[in-house]
Amino acid sequence: MDKITTIEFHDKDLLGSINIHGQNLKETIAIEEMSELIKEICKDQRGELRRDNLVEEFADVMICMRMLSLIHDIKPEEVQRWIDNKVARQKRRDLEYIRNKLRRYEDDR
Ligand SMILES: [Mg+2]
Repeated sequence: MDKITTIEFHDKDLLGSINIHGQNLKETIAIEEMSELIKEICKDQRGELRRDNLVEEFADVMICMRMLSLIHDIKPEEVQRWIDNKVARQKRRDLEYIRNKLRRYEDDR
């Protein structure tokens, strides 16, 4: 599965919360939630993964990303364009990495 469009974000409730608390607080919370996800990723790197915590923080960040998209009127097609470009760039870099690795292997033989 490479589409996540089946996730329901409850935009009406998110917009209500943005209106109550304001853009600045929501952006601060987004930063905090991203750091909580980073912390869970670090725990995984240390071999202390608690998957339920990771998924919870992942969901928190996704909610915040949705709020940021509502605050800044970020359209899915804009995001898709960036994703398409960046994944294509990553693919080119991955292929170049493999080519260089193969070249070094052949030079060493
Ligand atoms: Mg959190």
